[in-house]
Amino acid sequence: MNISPLQQLMTQHPLIQSMTALEEVCWLNPAATTLANALPYVGLDNADIQAASDRLQRFAPYISKAFPETAHAGGVIESDVVEIPDMLQALVQHSGTEIPGRLMLKKDSHLPISGSIKARGGIYEVLAHAEKLVMAAGLLRETDDYSQLLEERFRQFFSQYRIAVGSTGNLGLSIGIIGARLGFSVEVHMSADARAWKKNKLRAHGVKVIEYEQDYGTAVMQGRNAAAQDPRCLFIDDENSTTLFLGYAVAGQRLKTQFDQLGIIVDQHHPLFVYLPCGVGGGPGGVAFGLKMAFGDHVHCLFAEPTHAPCMLLGVYTGQHDAIAVQDIGIDNRTAADGLAVGRPSGFVGKAMERLIDGFYTVSDERLYRDLQMLSQQEHIQLEPSALAGMPGPIRIMQDQAYCTRLQLHHIPAQNITHLVWATGGGMVPENEMAAYLQQSSSSG
Ligand SMILES: *Cc1c(COP(=O)(O)O)cnc(C)c1O
Repeated sequence: MNISPLQQLMTQHPLIQSMTALEEVCWLNPAATTLANALPYVGLDNADIQAASDRLQRFAPYISKAFPETAHAGGVIESDVVEIPDMLQALVQHSGTEIPGRLMLKKDSHLPISGSIKARGGIYEVLAHAEKLVMAAGLLRETDDYSQLLEERFRQFFSQYRIAVGSTGNLGLSIGIIGARLGFSVEVHMSADARAWKKNKLRAHGVKVIEYEQDYGTAVMQGRNAAAQDPRCLFIDDENSTTLFLGYAVAGQRLKTQFDQLGIIVDQHHPLFVYLPCGVGGGPGGVAFGLKMAFGDHVHCLFAEPTHAPCMLLGVYTGQHDAIAVQDIGIDNRTAADGLAVGRPSGFVGKAMERLIDGFYTVSDERLYRDLQMLSQQEHIQLEPSALAGMPGPIRIMQDQAYCTRLQLHHIPAQNITHLVWATGGGMVPENEMAAYLQQSSSSG
């Protein structure tokens, strides 16, 4: 009798059966280990994050002038972290699961310039590229005031160069807005699931938007091909870029500073759990790396994906990384969580970070919409569906006895525990679109 490769895979990895059935699953990673053990596999360190942080600081005078909404923060693109106690109560009530600790929300949804987590990595990579070009041309030194990049001569200079990217929406938005502002000629290759308002907004900024009927994988491939023909074109590679990754990683020290100001401690007796929505993996992977470097072993990171697009879970769980896609196990990659509609994970992120992620879980679209509505009602905070993927995280870990025992969670006083849901997008969603999201949750019950 012949056994198909899929049957064989399912025998070796029994969770795939539930994933294929589109059930919500939770997998706590047996290979998770200490930072000291895992760091050699990442291949990056604190000095790399510091260099990224310094670069963002050099650009702050430019960002402050080019995007006046950042002026009050001195041109630093950062988001608030807030406690959401009413949402915590609602989650406990609905799930019937106790959640010891406080529940916080990291509002990357409201990052300036592009209203999503992509305002970290995406903007950083464009700035790094711009700096390299002007320095190579002898037009700027590190010690100069970077706000002069607003001058017409620099815009003229950048207009000789192109930037291309494939995106489900938010990455394109971030790269398009900053790229066009600097003067680059930018083209964004958009997958079918990208929202019309994101495309329109980009066109309004003078960005060339090319639309595909296929998913994210195709959009990326087309972007890559377009760039390969032109040595003056930078392709921003969401799947493999360490530059993007480091732009995200800067969030770690920034959060540490915010926690210090709020008096929130993270150590052996004060664990921090962070729930990160995951698409291709660069955003959550980079942030998780930054968090580990900033807080050490007592920050626990969990990645959240839609039931219809659990690509990073599949890649890490099977050990096949980017050699496997959700379509290979019969999953369609169709979800309302547009930033997360990715079928094949980043191999770079999976291999670099698999020992530093405590676990992975999946969330149905119905739950994303329900939590979107609940957060709006309880806390008056509005997010896009993908940004709610972190929200069920505290329930998932509390329901896993083995995990709680391993971490000795029952011995830690509740007031010492912090849960942080990373809200990744939604700040720029037009009012009528948001009304439709809220409507959607009512109709899906
Ligand atoms: C891109 C995105 C993510 C995930 O980032 P990846 O780098 O694709 O894993 C999460 N939420 C939103 C809203 C996003 O736009």
